[in-house]
Amino acid sequence: EKEPVTVLVTGAAGQIGYAIVPMIARGAMLGADQPVILHMLDIEPAAEALKGVRMELIDAAFPLLKGVVATTDAVEACTGVNIAVMVGGFPRKEGMERKDVMSKNVSIYKAQASALEKHAASDCKVLVVANPANTNALILKEFAPSIPEKNITCLTRLDHNRALGQISERINVYVSDVKNVIIWGNHSSTQYPDVNHATVKTCSGDKPVRELIADDQWLNNEFITTVQQRGAAIIKARKLSSALSAASAACDHVRDWVLGTPKGTWVSMGVYSDGSYGIQPGLIYSFPVNCEKGNWSIVQGLKIDEFSRKKMDATATELMEEKSLAYSCLN
Ligand code: NDP
Repeated sequence: EKEPVTVLVTGAAGQIGYAIVPMIARGAMLGADQPVILHMLDIEPAAEALKGVRMELIDAAFPLLKGVVATTDAVEACTGVNIAVMVGGFPRKEGMERKDVMSKNVSIYKAQASALEKHAASDCKVLVVANPANTNALILKEFAPSIPEKNITCLTRLDHNRALGQISERINVYVSDVKNVIIWGNHSSTQYPDVNHATVKTCSGDKPVRELIADDQWLNNEFITTVQQRGAAIIKARKLSSALSAASAACDHVRDWVLGTPKGTWVSMGVYSDGSYGIQPGLIYSFPVNCEKGNWSIVQGLKIDEFSRKKMDATATELMEEKSLAYSCLN
């Protein structure tokens, strides 16, 4: 049997936390043959609820689950961690200024960066889910300089999966036959869901989405806004934000990162920009990536038309603004 991998989930008593821990314990994140130890962190007001989650995990008797730590102590939570899924964050509350939310999250991510840097495994992989995800990841990177920048990412896979889902619904094909959409930029409403390179598997080979959906009006407008605003639509319907799809996407993100993407398929991940596609280096920006042997690399050489260029730059501009807002909160 393989050695267990230790997975940290912060904000584990929250909605996404509650949805993701059983997925991890069932092998949806690291594989059906990979034992796991779960470390769950939350804040003091959630400590009792967190205990309850731990009780349920024990009661589920997951064969792969080799240990569960439930704690409010960041050092205990981060010790020996191989994979860190950062779901804990300060939520936007009505009437709060953007700067106030940013400032709360900057201090959370600064503190957690230090705990991870000092106590996690040296090759720990980090996925930030809590919003503003890209900028929280950037702060974490800044304050954990010994964690390689390649190991710090943020979640845009939910947006990616939502785009696959919209295409599948529109033309009535299996979602598993749709691939290579791209989410560019920020995990916010300025993100750009791009179908220019996406394909659908058909009995006569892979066909471009733009050929199968010959409705540019829909693809360039409604499709994009539906994906961008899907989170809000779910809140409206459920009176709660999306949780199972966010949890599932976080598992997809880590699984593909660790175990690799299938040949000819890419996924979207928020990663540290190296200047690819003219995106300013030093931002955490969502790109199409291939993963192999635990490493991601940005897919190169895709043709970018003028429509895409504008949208890719607009979301980069928002990220630069968030970055300076975050830095102004540091002082
Ligand atoms: P959720 O579990 O629903 O969401 C957690 C975070 O994920 C939020 O920041 C949320 O952003 C973000 N998120 C990113 N993508 C999505 C998505 N597609 N759908 C929904 N959320 C998304 O929140 P809960 O309030 O249920 O749980 C949060 C937990 O974090 C609580 O247990 C709380 O105690 C803990 N917490 C920890 C802190 C810390 O570590 N210091 C500080 C504050 C809270 P958004 O807010 O934009 O929806």
